[in-house]
Amino acid sequence: MPNPRGGWKYWRVMDIQAATVPLQFGRRRYLSWNEVQRQKYGGRVQKVSVAAGFTCPNRDGSKGVGGCTFCNNDGFTPSYLKESGEITAQLDIGLNFLLRRYPETRHFVAYFQAYSNTYGDFERLRAAYEAALAHPKIDGLVIGTRPDCVADEVLDYLAELSRTKIVELELGIESCDNAALARVNRGHDFAATVDAVERAGARGLQVGGHLMFGLPGESRESMLAGAKKLSQLPLASLKFHQLQIVKHTQLANAWRRDPASVPLLSAQEYLELLADFLERLSPEIAIQRVGSEVPPAHKLAPEWNLRLSELAPRLDDLLAERKTWQGRLYSAK
Ligand code: SF4
Repeated sequence: MPNPRGGWKYWRVMDIQAATVPLQFGRRRYLSWNEVQRQKYGGRVQKVSVAAGFTCPNRDGSKGVGGCTFCNNDGFTPSYLKESGEITAQLDIGLNFLLRRYPETRHFVAYFQAYSNTYGDFERLRAAYEAALAHPKIDGLVIGTRPDCVADEVLDYLAELSRTKIVELELGIESCDNAALARVNRGHDFAATVDAVERAGARGLQVGGHLMFGLPGESRESMLAGAKKLSQLPLASLKFHQLQIVKHTQLANAWRRDPASVPLLSAQEYLELLADFLERLSPEIAIQRVGSEVPPAHKLAPEWNLRLSELAPRLDDLLAERKTWQGRLYSAK
């Protein structure tokens, strides 16, 4: 059975007294997913987004209607993506763009990002996945979805596929706090995340999680408590996003009515929170992203707009200033 954390072995060489960063972190003070991928697959692995036309159980009435209060998928869809095209045509457009931008890429994987890409009839799901895999430049799949709609049948299929292809299941965890999840109308609780990650991990699948910091009503303490809960799961990686107010969402309406009802983190508060979280997180969970960039045309707030290329080094500088690193306060007990 493959290791769901990608076979990465934590090499504890740190000297606590001298505050030496673990060697395997390389140039960062946290475990970078890009580095892990480079070592595992011999070079850069680049996602190419596709939209397969799936929906979401929190929108079609099966779990809820209206969706999560922060959700507007347009805010997270790359500008190069034409949703109406066939999967092969979408991949061609994406590859044309990404090959110019990242010519050093070793492997391209199709990224089923928008909505819930394990929700639907299995044969239809499989046809979409296999249409992407049929593209000669595509070496695998990243499947984004909700934790409450990953059937065993889909996991079995993906686990089998992962023997010959790069496969990652990306789950929208968003929060480990049930009250915060309820308040954003998420339609599932944290137990659904635990269940999905454990079932996928037991099959040897690489599982990534998506977390949002700053959901309405969620305290700093409950966000930090999430580091311990997530460290206990067979997660290979995490992506972090700061809460942003995206146009045409329920959260945007609430914020317009009363901005104080949706307090937002400043850039510095967000970075401090990330640093605190990383200190408590298992050093074996790789970090895929440390923030999100919603295109300005879709965003209402906050005003700060740091690019990812700025956020990552600022986070690293903060960790260095504090003489700390991912996992420094982590305990497996
Ligand atoms: S964030 Fe995901 S789960 Fe929530 S409504 Fe949007 S597509 Fe559905």
